[in-house]
Amino acid sequence: METTSKDGFRWVRVGEEPHTRSDGTPTTLGVWQADCKQCGKPFTIKTPAAVTWHGESGTFATRHCEEHRLKRDRNDMHAFRSSLASFKPEAAQA
Ligand SMILES: [Zn+2]
Repeated sequence: METTSKDGFRWVRVGEEPHTRSDGTPTTLGVWQADCKQCGKPFTIKTPAAVTWHGESGTFATRHCEEHRLKRDRNDMHAFRSSLASFKPEAAQA
């Protein structure tokens, strides 16, 4: 499974992992891998396992490895939310 944003950034679902919620109940997270927009280094993000494309979780606003994340993602989040406003899920899965 994979999803690509309107501006061409791609995430690939690489697996799932068990997770315990803050209230103690077990759940499963989906693990997605992408390449840092700045240096190209692969990094992973985690979403609820039911998430199948980037419009379902704000976590996909992450476009950078841990090293570059803190400096860049505040601006990226704003651009990402703006791009989602006119985006249709059907197109993303085609
Ligand atoms: Zn990086």
